[in-house]
Amino acid sequence: MSNRINVPDIFGSLVFNDEVMHERLPRDVYAELNRLIEEKKPLTFEIAQVVASCMKSWAVEKGATHFTHWFQPMTGITAEKHDSFIKPVGEGRIIMNFSGNELIRSEPDASSFPSGGLRATFEARGYTAWDPTSYAFIKDRTLCIPSIFCSYGGQVLDKKTPLLRSMQALNKQSMKIINLLGNPTGATSVSSYVGGEQEYFLIDRDLYNLRDDLKLTGRTLFGAKPPKGQEMEDHYFGTIKPRVKAFMDDLDVELWKLGIYANTEHNEAAPAQHELAPIFSDCNTATDQNQLTMEIMKTVAIKHNLACLIHEKPFAGVNGSGKHNNWSITTNTGVNVFDPGKAPAENTLFLVFLAAVVKATDEYQDLIRACVSNSANDLRLGGNEAPPAIVSLYLGDELGAVADAIENDEVFEAHEAAVMKSGVKVIPRFDKDTSDRNRTSPFAFTGNKFELRMVGSSASLSTPNVVLNTIVAEELSQFAERLESAADVELAANELVSEVFKEHGRIVFNGNNYSEEWAEEAKKRGLLNLKTTADAMPAYLDEKNISLFEKHKIYTREELESRYEIGLETYCKSIHIEALTMVEMAKRDIAPAVCEYSELIANTINSKRMAVSNMPCRLELELLSTLSKNSDNLSDAIAKLEKDTKKAEKIPDVTAQAEFYRDFIIKDMEELRSYADKLEEVTAKEYWPFPTYTDLLYSVV
Ligand code: ADP
Ligand code: MG
Repeated sequence: MSNRINVPDIFGSLVFNDEVMHERLPRDVYAELNRLIEEKKPLTFEIAQVVASCMKSWAVEKGATHFTHWFQPMTGITAEKHDSFIKPVGEGRIIMNFSGNELIRSEPDASSFPSGGLRATFEARGYTAWDPTSYAFIKDRTLCIPSIFCSYGGQVLDKKTPLLRSMQALNKQSMKIINLLGNPTGATSVSSYVGGEQEYFLIDRDLYNLRDDLKLTGRTLFGAKPPKGQEMEDHYFGTIKPRVKAFMDDLDVELWKLGIYANTEHNEAAPAQHELAPIFSDCNTATDQNQLTMEIMKTVAIKHNLACLIHEKPFAGVNGSGKHNNWSITTNTGVNVFDPGKAPAENTLFLVFLAAVVKATDEYQDLIRACVSNSANDLRLGGNEAPPAIVSLYLGDELGAVADAIENDEVFEAHEAAVMKSGVKVIPRFDKDTSDRNRTSPFAFTGNKFELRMVGSSASLSTPNVVLNTIVAEELSQFAERLESAADVELAANELVSEVFKEHGRIVFNGNNYSEEWAEEAKKRGLLNLKTTADAMPAYLDEKNISLFEKHKIYTREELESRYEIGLETYCKSIHIEALTMVEMAKRDIAPAVCEYSELIANTINSKRMAVSNMPCRLELELLSTLSKNSDNLSDAIAKLEKDTKKAEKIPDVTAQAEFYRDFIIKDMEELRSYADKLEEVTAKEYWPFPTYTDLLYSVV
């Protein structure tokens, strides 16, 4: 079960959490429920019946009237179908009831959810089943029961099932290694833990409503560069503006009620950009909670007449938004295997797990890149300040030195912790961290956890964690096989670690990942640089990756093929909608505005020359010529984009279609935008049909 957090219930908890269960369930049922969860065994119907009845009374007391299985289909957002607790009992009487059966499973019509060819539309049946390892909660007077979602044939249709499977695989392989290394802490299981830092933009809702691109696609498709972007770096950690602060305070209350402990909030690098970091929890709970966080952020924003943008790149030219996935593995006895301790070079357990991450990152770079891909994140990775599309691992100074020593068969000399001297006598001295922060790495070791920073802000946390859990489980399983047959396990483990660092050291990079030189260097090291979703998704069909997922029982070949298909279909559809939105805005908003303004200039020239013949009118003529040249180009670019989108629609094969969007539509869109942005720069503000970047980024005070 997820970690217990003892925080005071200040705002009125809406979570059916451990404390509530402890208080309300009969003692034997509570103990049995926990035992079954701990031992990863299925719950009995009898237990479910008691839990259901208790859950219902609690929910009704809190004002709930409905219940729903709350699940995460492949749309990337959550789904719910509400039923009321009311049941007819004959003679026009009704009671409030909720049975064990209703808690355990439900059968929504599944035909409209993406299945990537796994289920024909006529086979509408899909099942949702209660996930007792994540807490139920109340939202909008509805008891929400976190659930998995699968087809009648048992195939996975959601994001939660593979995550739970990957956690099981990681537990199994980690315990093998821990036991082989003598299990000093007496652990019986491990879990992966995640803290997902969420970046987002807040803009004024009235302005948002004036832009179809924001409403339909979540990002601006047009917009000239404002005179001030983020070059002054005055927004990062800057004072939070009162309207934003009011939003954050309200958001905290709503999240705390749902057991989501938002911990730090601050301004991010771009103007209007902010970040929220929750207290970490087990991978499954963290994923559920992040889905809820994104939803609640949007609804709380509406109350403050703001719009919360969770898109990866809402504005060109300033930072995009990510979701830093802080990931660690901890035993049920509280030992974080990534805690290097005082002497990392002698901490075999730590080194073996570290070696597993190093080897996994190198061997499965393709999967790591694929699991964070969508068309929006393609705009961010490698863009302003985001980590590049090249996967590498940052270890920092101290661990880097440990790794170097191991790689070169040398003895590691630990440095004393350096004392920080500020040069100001009254400031107390304190120890420095052993490594500086590196903000440019896509995957960084940060003290006792790994932070995958490539994840996009709108993505579910499930997919990247399925990959991290599984690839590390695979390496651990290979290690276990080797250590099982060793006469001296400790010695064999050290040899293994040294071998891994020698063979896979190329994936470690502690320098500046944003630099041109790194792209060159990475190429020399033979690392992949998969720039777009269309380039990255084929990793799901690679035989090496199919056998990985089949071996650990995460996905079958068919399930992987379906994910590949859904990934590329979504890529094509998202770009298609953007292209159509651009064409419509260009034709119906930009073109009329520019014509009207050009007419004004032309009339000015005529009337000036009528008044005084031979008036030079240099400003007007220059302006008219710029307007005219760019509107002609705009017109051609609209025609080209329209023609190509029609072509794209007709391509039957999803792989070829995705490549066409990547190679033609995206370029057409960039071209169209460039003319529109030039027109924006020379058109009078009152004629321009929608709010500019300056309006959008600087209006919230
Ligand atoms: P920063 O990235 O700014 O240095 P922190 O180190 O405070 O921030 O933590 C960032 C996120 O990592 C937070 O959501 C925090 O809860 C989470 N986190 C901290 N420790 C762990 C851990 N052992 N496992 C997973 N997540 C963690
Ligand atoms: Mg971070």
